[in-house]
Amino acid sequence: MRIETLCTGDELLTGVTVDTNSAYFAERVFAAGAMLDRNEVIGDRMDEIVEALRSLYSRADFAVVSGGLGPTSDDLTAEAAARAADVPLELHEPTLNRIRERFRSRNIEFTPNNERQARIPRGAEVVDNPWGTAPMFVVTSGRARVCFLPGVPREFHKLCDSEVMPRLRAALEKGGTPPRAVRTLKCFGIAESHIDHQVRDIPQRFPGVRVAFRTTLPENHLKLWAEAGTREAAEALLAQAETAARGLLGSRVFGADEDTFSAVVGGLLRKQGATVALAESCTGGLAAAILSETPGASDYLVGSLVTYTPAAKTKLAGIAPDLLGREGPVSETVTIELARAARGMGATLGLAVTGYAGPEAGTLPVGTVFVALDAADRGMNRRLQLPGDREQVRRLAAYAVLDQTRTYYRGAA
Ligand code: AMP
Ligand code: MG
Repeated sequence: MRIETLCTGDELLTGVTVDTNSAYFAERVFAAGAMLDRNEVIGDRMDEIVEALRSLYSRADFAVVSGGLGPTSDDLTAEAAARAADVPLELHEPTLNRIRERFRSRNIEFTPNNERQARIPRGAEVVDNPWGTAPMFVVTSGRARVCFLPGVPREFHKLCDSEVMPRLRAALEKGGTPPRAVRTLKCFGIAESHIDHQVRDIPQRFPGVRVAFRTTLPENHLKLWAEAGTREAAEALLAQAETAARGLLGSRVFGADEDTFSAVVGGLLRKQGATVALAESCTGGLAAAILSETPGASDYLVGSLVTYTPAAKTKLAGIAPDLLGREGPVSETVTIELARAARGMGATLGLAVTGYAGPEAGTLPVGTVFVALDAADRGMNRRLQLPGDREQVRRLAAYAVLDQTRTYYRGAA
């Protein structure tokens, strides 16, 4: 089955807006066990859109079109959809009434151009859009079923989840697409090329399994994709491949699918009944920010000292000026002392990070980062040489300091 997206909008071609709608849909298509065959981006020009839709109707089995359903003169998609299918546009009374009612309830004057949004290609299925004014509609033409959605990301996402995906899943089942099962293993602390190297034998060992890679800095994700005769067989095959991949990647895998690094570290602390406090230098509070992304983080995150300058390290964390002078503010000893000071806030674990994020080097090269963990029973610390620019070093350093909690509790669970 061939699945496509077509995104319209001049703003997508001038760099003003990045096309995130197709990515949103693509991710869900992949999770449903299929994959987009093509994504096309075009401007707000009638001839372009009609031509693109004619091709789409004849080429795709299932497609999503984003944008151009609004009331303004650059919203051309409904008319193009009708022209490409050789049908007229028709006023859809229930939609017109709904739009009028929407304006009335918000005390906004209904201008005639708003009627445009109720003009739908003849024969199309109209789907109510509770999140906006323009409805979604579905055109069946040629071999294709094409869902037309507003471009506003919020509306696009809601309609995608509630209306498009159920239709796609039904079509995939009817179309005899072999049942597939997918899992994303999320890794930190291992390069994409090393993951690839580690799991290189998996497709041969498990026929029907494919692998794919994705980086969302500083995480690297491995996608496993299993195909078999039945859903149960696909799930079983996936489970075997997943076990093998986890065996090869070990503790580098911090989570799967919807897991976030923040929630995984937080969940571990919660499970251990532990709390954490930080002292952050080169990350400027980023590690605490990541940990606090997860709701309920106050159960385990005590706080973070942002001890950016040597003076702050002394004033906030009590680091002796002569130690700073002797060892340097970015050093193993100072980082260990900072972790101790962080734990002094009353936490089970104290974490600290210092380093040179660049672009200018300090007394050590750019990317030199020290992380330390302090606990009642023992301390841990590491010196890292992190690659990349300032943003990359900071994100890697923030993950690295938080990741020490996973190392500390490894085996304890
Ligand atoms: P439209 O439905 O064409 O009126 O688009 C409404 C707004 O949604 C545009 O002004 C953009 O800001 C945004 N938008 C349109 N298409 C996309 C897309 N493919 N990805 C992300 N945002 C979009
Ligand atoms: Mg537009």
